[in-house]
Amino acid sequence: MIINNELEAFIKQVKKEALEKDVPIMEDDTINYIKKYIVENKVKRILEIGTAVGYSGLNYLSVDYDISLVTIERDENRYLKALQNFKESGLESRVDIIFKDALEVDITDKFDLVILDGAKGQNINFFNKFQKNLTEKGTIITDNMYLHGYVEKEEEDITSRNLRALVRKIKEYHKFLEDNEEYDSEILKVGDGIAISQKHNL
Ligand code: SAH
Ligand code: MG
Repeated sequence: MIINNELEAFIKQVKKEALEKDVPIMEDDTINYIKKYIVENKVKRILEIGTAVGYSGLNYLSVDYDISLVTIERDENRYLKALQNFKESGLESRVDIIFKDALEVDITDKFDLVILDGAKGQNINFFNKFQKNLTEKGTIITDNMYLHGYVEKEEEDITSRNLRALVRKIKEYHKFLEDNEEYDSEILKVGDGIAISQKHNL
């Protein structure tokens, strides 16, 4: 499920460096789940919100030669690092990194899979904005549905006001998905919690 050993070693190196520099990256279980999802559902075109340094993107692309990725990052340093990482990986021809706030980008292409891994308080906006970019059977996967366990904590046990506000936002997103009748969504206890959303009545 990975193209070659050299690429595998390179991705490991990107992961190590990201962890050392406190760049947030997807958990192993989440990466493995998405890679398996890509294989089983023959996903070819992926749109990702939140590139960071390209770690997750490299993993998606490593599944097969005919997978392509459009990924959006608003932080300049991370964008530049991602650019460098995709280049060094030799996979850059299959990636388009957009250096912009995702809420200000206009994309008309369609994707089999849209991955929401940007600002955790913006997921409703991301979902509403990018659902038009899904193919008929396309799926939206949202990461960090549990926000490192905070979503399941009692509010009074969370001392930081900002964190409390963020948790409230994520809970609103849970409810948004639950109430959204156009999509069937399920939340899986994979990694930090992921939501899988697909158009209803496929
Ligand atoms: N998917 C990456 C991790 C992403 S971390 C991986 O697993 O390797 C989240 C990233 O989203 C951060 O780098 C942050 O700068 C970016 N981000 C947050 N909100 C954004 C927005 N509105 N538009 C573009 N990028 C955003
Ligand atoms: Mg994440």
